[in-house]
Amino acid sequence: MIGKKTGCALLIVSLLGIFAALYFFSSWPAGRPGQVTHEPPSFTSIAGAIEPGETLYSVFQKHALNLDDLFAMRQAAAEVHRLKEVYPGQPYRFSVDAGKSIRSFTYGITENTFLTIERGAGGFQARKYEIPYESRLLTVGGDINGSLVGALGSAQEDIALAVAVSEILAWDIDFNTDLREGDSFKVIVEGLYLQGKFRKYGKILAVEFLNDNKKHVAYRFEQNGRPDYFDAGGKSLRKAFLKAPLSFRRISSAFSRSRRHPILKVRRPHHGIDYVAPQGTPVSATADGRVTFAGRRGGYGKLVVLAHRGGLTTYYGHLSRFAAGIRAGKTIGQGDLVGYVGATGLASGPHLHYEVRHDARPVNPVRFKMAAGDPVPQRFLAAFQATAAHLDRTLAQAVFYEARDAKNRGIGGALALQTDPSPFLN
Ligand SMILES: [Zn+2]
Repeated sequence: MIGKKTGCALLIVSLLGIFAALYFFSSWPAGRPGQVTHEPPSFTSIAGAIEPGETLYSVFQKHALNLDDLFAMRQAAAEVHRLKEVYPGQPYRFSVDAGKSIRSFTYGITENTFLTIERGAGGFQARKYEIPYESRLLTVGGDINGSLVGALGSAQEDIALAVAVSEILAWDIDFNTDLREGDSFKVIVEGLYLQGKFRKYGKILAVEFLNDNKKHVAYRFEQNGRPDYFDAGGKSLRKAFLKAPLSFRRISSAFSRSRRHPILKVRRPHHGIDYVAPQGTPVSATADGRVTFAGRRGGYGKLVVLAHRGGLTTYYGHLSRFAAGIRAGKTIGQGDLVGYVGATGLASGPHLHYEVRHDARPVNPVRFKMAAGDPVPQRFLAAFQATAAHLDRTLAQAVFYEARDAKNRGIGGALALQTDPSPFLN
């Protein structure tokens, strides 16, 4: 039982944490390295971000801080967060006195947690806090003009949202080659804000995607703390085979430096499918299986063959090179890296030759839509149906904005729901 006193102390501690967070993250993520600002009394604030190769020790040296403090801070933080583990890009802020002794230190451990170490009467005190994001419900939508990234925008968080949407529907839609003029989408997604400013997207609650006149709907539903996505009937969207061996996520990260997301093309000239893609595009296993061949074979050039359950095999040909560790006998998971697109063997230009065979006979991979995830169990079905019905009403009635506008309208999006969204933001 928590006594009145402890409860009060806890409240003060958590309020302090929130103030610390607001102060600290008011400069996030723009924290200019080495930025020095003067605070009202005699304290100076030093803010920055860990640079590649830096340790906290070298940060102390760079700013000529008291190294005895570093030792004491490490000891104080030992139980909370090991200070040896600081990573490039993570922001920090020191408050120091005229003698360069540390008054307080704040460090962003992850996007969601940070560490504070403060000097008190009895020495340094370390605490870890969750960043107190405010969650708002956003309704984001649009028409496809080329690619999903093109429709959502090229801001880092928008690309992350495009990738997350592509992964929810990866068993049904190939986001690199299936999209058509006239396709459209709606996403109900959590927006995470600090001090009224959009920071990033949170959970995706529902996706409705109209692809080639076929509507795909995915609902997020959590059971025993484990989230997954289901169709309207409560069936898992996961299937034994991914729609394509070229993962939208892998391609997005491989080509993140170029501004334009490559738009791939497919050809179906013979038994398999040819994906015309830039040299070096990562290739993924479409299903769980075992490598039965990895080497050169005639017109296929560098080829990987995987064996799957039910007498099915998949072929990945013309590769420029194999992924690390790909050799006969190795077990491989759905989505794992197999190799990279090339033009080895009989190929006029870089492309991936992908083939599915059933007992050595070529088959159309689209026909193998075996369920791989469990459906919503009977005892959760009523709860799932209530969630889906609520999300359906939002999909039908809410206004869906372009990503840029949706972020600015976090509240507007939530109001458009006309119901309390909190049960779905669990
Ligand atoms: Zn081919």
